[in-house]
Amino acid sequence: MTSTITTTNPATGDDLATYDVFDAQRVDDAIVAAHELHRSWRRESFATRASVLHAIADELDGRIGPLAELMADEMGKPIAAGRSEVEKCAWACRHYADNAERYLADVEISTDNTRSYAHHEPLGVILAVMPWNFPLWQVVRFAAPAFMAGNAGVLKHASSTTGTAIALDELFVAAGLPDGLFRTLVIPSSRVNDVIEHPLVRAVTLTGSGPAGAAVASKAGEMLKKSVLELGGSDPYVVLEDADLELAAATCANSRMINGGQSCIAAKRFVVHSDVYDEFIDRLTADIDAKVMGDPHEETTDYGPQARTDLRDELHQQVAASISHGARLVTGGKVPDQPGAWYPGTVLADVTPGMPAYDDEMFGPVAAVIRATDEADAIRIANDTPFGLGAAVFTRDLDRGERIAAEELEAGSCFVNAMVASDPRLPFGGIKESGFGRELADLGIKEFVNTKTVVVG
Ligand code: NDP
Repeated sequence: MTSTITTTNPATGDDLATYDVFDAQRVDDAIVAAHELHRSWRRESFATRASVLHAIADELDGRIGPLAELMADEMGKPIAAGRSEVEKCAWACRHYADNAERYLADVEISTDNTRSYAHHEPLGVILAVMPWNFPLWQVVRFAAPAFMAGNAGVLKHASSTTGTAIALDELFVAAGLPDGLFRTLVIPSSRVNDVIEHPLVRAVTLTGSGPAGAAVASKAGEMLKKSVLELGGSDPYVVLEDADLELAAATCANSRMINGGQSCIAAKRFVVHSDVYDEFIDRLTADIDAKVMGDPHEETTDYGPQARTDLRDELHQQVAASISHGARLVTGGKVPDQPGAWYPGTVLADVTPGMPAYDDEMFGPVAAVIRATDEADAIRIANDTPFGLGAAVFTRDLDRGERIAAEELEAGSCFVNAMVASDPRLPFGGIKESGFGRELADLGIKEFVNTKTVVVG
């Protein structure tokens, strides 16, 4: 009997589609084919590879509507946000098409020899284990640099976004990528270890939760294979007494509510100076209440349902536990009485250590507001977390903000008076339990290459 994966519409709870799971032979065939194709792909010029990446970007632009609809169906992303995600994927493809040769150029190093330099070569087949929250972007930000570096890829996507994974696989082929250089493996997470064990799989990258990251990195370590992990975060946004509160509250609300709160770099903890604490909460609450929760297929919707009912239930338990430990519920916090994985924008104030809203990642539209007595206290609270993905600080004094961002906040990306966002031109990744390694920019493409030292005596 063939086992299957069934996807579900989180807005309604209805089943969407059922997919046959690949058996072991089909997985092996895909890895071997990817490896064989990579042997010729790596010999292609940067210009040839770039022309395929540009064609992928054009295909993404051409399929923007259907891809946005598919993401709306599979994980509840509003279609306007889905279109933006497709556009960002096209941008990343064009960025790497235009910059990979420069990023991977030989680096001359002066020694006593006739010539010495660092040369970059692809590794081969890379396994990508990806999540459902940005089901296209998470894959493309791995795939675009991988293809330009001459690597091949196999994808284990989140089961809940299997349709999006297959659509992307087909799109790459339609754009002219050698058929099989990239392949979606329809398998459950219990079969990921087998893929990591495969001798032709050279490395693995994962975006997702800490437990999934630990499982994959452990297996990769056992097999002596490289891993890059992009995990969760509990990003602090520090609001100082001299902040432009209108800007701070609007930016914090947008960052918290993006993708229904299901973003690794969403603002999650708001660390607010006592002098502006009450006014900030009023403004934040008004901005969050103004966001429209609704049908992801409607243009006017700001946020749809949560991606899965089990994740929504977990989130609500975190909210309830925080309230029972003394957090003040300002808005939201109630599960709507309707089918689907709905959860309203929620603000918890007076959050303190010992509450899930302070200690853990809240992967949904729930803002945790924490009071700080002064700048030093705010920095201490911001860093009082096992995570270190992103952080932001709001102040009218740009020197002060830059100093805090550059020297005080413990995170991979620190922004002043703006929300943390990924950009193909900027390195992206975390420290502490948010993971290791970097994606995007030059560092991202160099994660999965052999930096070979060449010396001519
Ligand atoms: P997971 O981390 O479980 O899933 C992410 C990917 O990893 C999926 O492809 C999943 O496959 C796979 N996976 C899960 N467990 C393993 C394992 N042991 N070995 C190998 N692969 C595995 O995320 P969830 O969907 O369960 O979400 C749970 C929480 O994770 C969220 O609430 C959030 O805190 C965090 N998260 C963080 C994201 C980020 O962007 N950093 C994105 C998504 C979630 P499958 O779907 O088949 O289980």
